[in-house]
Amino acid sequence: ITLLGIESSCDDTAAAIVRANGSRGEILSNVVSGQTDLHAAFGGVVPEIAARAHAEKIDLMVEAALAEAGVSLGDLDGIAVTAGPGLIGGVLSGVMCAKGLAMGSGLPLIGVNHLAGHALTPRLTDGLAFPYLMLLVSGGHCQFLVVESADRFHRLGSTIDDAPGEAFDKTAKLLALPQPGGPNVEREAESGNPKAFALPRPLLDRPGCDMSFSGLKTALLRARDGLIERDGGLRRGDRADLCASFQAAVADVLTAKGRRAIAAYLEREPAEPVLAVAGGVAANATIRHQLQTLCAETGLRFTAPPLALCTDNAAMIAWAGIEIARLGHVDGMDLAARPRWPLDTRQTGILGSGK
Ligand code: ATP
Ligand code: FE
Repeated sequence: ITLLGIESSCDDTAAAIVRANGSRGEILSNVVSGQTDLHAAFGGVVPEIAARAHAEKIDLMVEAALAEAGVSLGDLDGIAVTAGPGLIGGVLSGVMCAKGLAMGSGLPLIGVNHLAGHALTPRLTDGLAFPYLMLLVSGGHCQFLVVESADRFHRLGSTIDDAPGEAFDKTAKLLALPQPGGPNVEREAESGNPKAFALPRPLLDRPGCDMSFSGLKTALLRARDGLIERDGGLRRGDRADLCASFQAAVADVLTAKGRRAIAAYLEREPAEPVLAVAGGVAANATIRHQLQTLCAETGLRFTAPPLALCTDNAAMIAWAGIEIARLGHVDGMDLAARPRWPLDTRQTGILGSGK
C-alpha cells in the first residue's frame, strides 16, 4: 500500500509518498516548503500569511512529491491529510486539496491527526512495537504519550502553558539572539555555566507528568534585567550563562517528569520498553543526553527519528494514514478540518464525524 501524505497545519507546506514495507515505511519522496522568511519580520507565524502561502504552494508540493517518487495518482492507494490540530486556514488548504484529488481520482481519503503523525514516526523509521512511550516536544507541544496502537494514545501529561520550543524561541528574543531560538540558544549555552542562575523547575513539587515552562521565561527576564540594572548591560559571558541556565532548567523538568512517565509506562509491562522522542526540541544535545541517561538508569531503550522526520513533514502523515487504513478506516467527503483535536481520544471513531 502506497499513500500520498499532505501536511499544512503550521508553517510548512509538505507532501510525501510513503510505501508500506512490512512493519515500517519506505519514503519514496518527502518535500517541504517552509515559510520562515515570510514570518520573520513579525516574530512569529501569522495565520493569514501562512494560509495564503499554503494555498499557493500545496499543489506544487504534491506535484513535486509525485514526480520525485516517480509515481502518478493512479499508482496510489489513498490520500492522507492532516485534518488538525493546527492553524485552521492551513489545515483547510490541505484538506481541500486532498478532497479535490480524492474526488478526481476516486482514491480513498484518510484524515490524520498531526500529533498522531509525530507519535507514529518511530514505527515508520524503525517499526517500533506497541506500546512505546513517546515524548513529543516541539514549538507547539509538549506531552508524554503511551502509544498503544495507531489510533489509541494515552496521554500521561502535557504542558499547561508554553511548549519548550516556544520557550527557547522567547529566550532567544529576550537575549537578542536570532530565530529559531532553539539551536541559537543551544550554541550560546555551550560556553556558559548552567549553574550560574538558579532558575525555577516548575511543577516538580506536584504529582503527575504535567509540565509548565512559562514561569521559566519570566524568571529569565528578571535575571536579565537584574544584570542590566547592576552592570548597565549584559557583560561578556552573561548571555551564555543565561542560556545554559535556561537550557538546564528545561532539561531538568523534562527529565524529572520523564522519570514519572517511565514509571507509569512500565506499569503496563511492555515487552520491550522504549522511550521515543520527536519534535524539534528533541534535537537539543543536553536534553537528549539527560533523557538517554534516564533511559539507561530505568532499563529503557532510547530512540529518536532523524531530525527531518522529527520536525513537521508529510511522510509522517502518509505513514499514519497507512496505519489507519490498515485498521480499516477511511473518511468521506465530510472530513472536517479541526483547529483543536486532542490525541487522548480514540482517533478513528471520531474521524469524519464532522463535529
Ligand atoms: P508543532 O510541531 O508542535 O506544531 P513546530 O512545528 O513549531 O510545532 P517543530 O518544527 O517540531 O515544531 O520544532 C521547532 C521548534 O524546535 C522551535 O521552537 C525551535 O526553537 C525548537 N528547536 C529546534 N532545534 C532546537 C535545539 N537544538 N534545542 C532546542 N530547541 C530546538
Ligand atoms: Fe508538528
